[in-house]
Amino acid sequence: MFRPKVVILGAGFGGLTAARALDRIADVTLIDRHNFQTFLPLLYQVSTAGLAADHIAHPVRGALRKSKVKFRMGSPLSIDHKNKSIKLDSSEDIPFDYLIVALGSATNDFGVKGVAEHALGMKTVSEALTIRASIMRRFEDLCRFEDDTRLSISVVGGGPTGVEMAGAIAELKKGPLTSDQPEAAANIVVNLIEAGPRLLPSFSQSLSDRTIKDLQKLGVNVYTNANVQEVKPRQILLKDGTAIPSEITIWAAGVTGEPAIKKLNLPIEAGRLKVDPTLQVSNYPEIFAIGDVAGAKGENGRPLPMVAPVAMQQARFVAKQIAALVSRRPLGNFKYRDKGSMATIGRHKAVVEVGPIRLGGAIAWYAWLWLHLFYLLGGRNKIGTMADWTWNYLTFDRGNRHIIDIN
Ligand SMILES: Cc1cc2nc3c(=O)[nH]c(=O)nc-3n(C[C@H](O)[C@H](O)[C@H](O)COP(=O)(O)OP(=O)(O)OC[C@H]3O[C@@H](n4cnc5c(N)ncnc54)[C@H](O)[C@@H]3O)c2cc1C
Repeated sequence: MFRPKVVILGAGFGGLTAARALDRIADVTLIDRHNFQTFLPLLYQVSTAGLAADHIAHPVRGALRKSKVKFRMGSPLSIDHKNKSIKLDSSEDIPFDYLIVALGSATNDFGVKGVAEHALGMKTVSEALTIRASIMRRFEDLCRFEDDTRLSISVVGGGPTGVEMAGAIAELKKGPLTSDQPEAAANIVVNLIEAGPRLLPSFSQSLSDRTIKDLQKLGVNVYTNANVQEVKPRQILLKDGTAIPSEITIWAAGVTGEPAIKKLNLPIEAGRLKVDPTLQVSNYPEIFAIGDVAGAKGENGRPLPMVAPVAMQQARFVAKQIAALVSRRPLGNFKYRDKGSMATIGRHKAVVEVGPIRLGGAIAWYAWLWLHLFYLLGGRNKIGTMADWTWNYLTFDRGNRHIIDIN
C-alpha cells in the first residue's frame, strides 16, 4: 500500500502524538528546534524551584525509539508549495505528500508597552530558569540588605498558568525562603493581576471565588479588573492610573500562534493558521494544522482553547484524516471532546471541573498530581518528578533553588 511522506513541524503535544499515530501508515519526518519535548503544564514548578528542569523535558529521539519516525533538529524557513517541500535552517529540503503544522504558540503581549523589555515570559525551560534565577537572586539581595526593602513579584494573567504561578511563588516564600532567612522572606510581596472581573474565567463562578480565597490565604494580593497599561522596569502601571511596585513581572496573560508560521505563506487569522473543520489549512488540502497554532473553532463558533487535550485529540484525528486520504475515503470534521479543566493553587489546594462535577481542596489536588504524572513523558521523568514532589511534600523544602544563568 502507498506510504505517504508526512512532515510534521513541531514535536510538542500535538506533533509527537501525530508522529506516533502515523508511524504505521506513513514515512514520517518530525522537525523541532529543540531535541526535547517540554511538558509545559509543569513549567511553573521549574520557575519556583519545585522541580528540576530536566524532569519536564523529554528527548524526542527517546520518545521515538520504538518507531520508524525520523527526527530533524531545525526550524522551517519556507515552504515550496509547488514542489511540496519544506526548507529548513539546517540547509535541508524535505519533500512531503502531507504536512502537519504543530508549532504551538508564543507569549502574547497584546501590544502592551514594556512587556518585551521588562517582563519575563513563561513558555520555555530557559524562561522558567530565568524566572527562578531572578527570584532567587533578588532574595539574596534582600538577605544582604537586612532592612525593610521590599521585593514585589507580580504575575499578570489570572488564567490557570497565572494562578498556579502566583500560588507556587507564595508557597516558595512561605516555606523554603522563610526557613532560609525569615526576615528577608517576610519582605517578599506576591501580586496576581487580572484584567477581567474574576480569576479562572473558564471555570464556574464558585471555583473562581474559591481560588481567590485560597490565594489570599497564601498571602497573594489579587487584583481583578486591573488592566495593565504599561510594564516599567520596577513597576506596573494600570489603565486606571494605579502604579504597582514590581521588581519582577511575569507575563502569563496569554499566548498567540507561533510567529514562525508567517514564513510559511499560509493563511493566518487572529494570529493562528486558518483551518477548515477538517483541520486542513484553508485552500491547502495537503497541509493540516493542529494544536495552539491552529485556529480551529468549536461548536459555539469560538476558537478552541489552547490546551494540550485539544492538540492531542487533533493529532490523532489528523492521522485518521491522512489514512482516509490515502485510501480515498471522505474526510470528517473535527469535534473536540472537552474532558474538563483543572488548576492547582498550592498544597492540598486545587480546582477541578468536569461537566457538572466541581471539586476543590485536597481531592482535587491529588487528582491534579496523578493526572500530570500520568501524562508526563518518560519513566525517568516520572520517577524524578515523584522524587522531587515527595521531598517537597515531606520536608516543606524545595531543593532546586539554584541560580543558574543560561544567557
Ligand atoms: C506555562 C504553561 C502552562 C500550561 N498548562 C497547561 C495545563 O495545565 N493543561 C493544559 O491542557 N494545557 C496547558 N498549557 C497549554 C499546552 O501546553 C498547549 O496547549 C500545548 O502544548 C499545545 O500543544 P502544541 O503541540 O500545539 O504545541 P507545543 O506543545 O507547544 O509544541 C510546539 C513545538 O513546536 C516547536 N517549535 C515552535 N516554534 C518552532 C520553530 N520555529 N522551529 C522549530 N520548532 C518550533 C516547539 O519547540 C515545540 O516543541 C500550558 C501552557 C503553558 C505555556
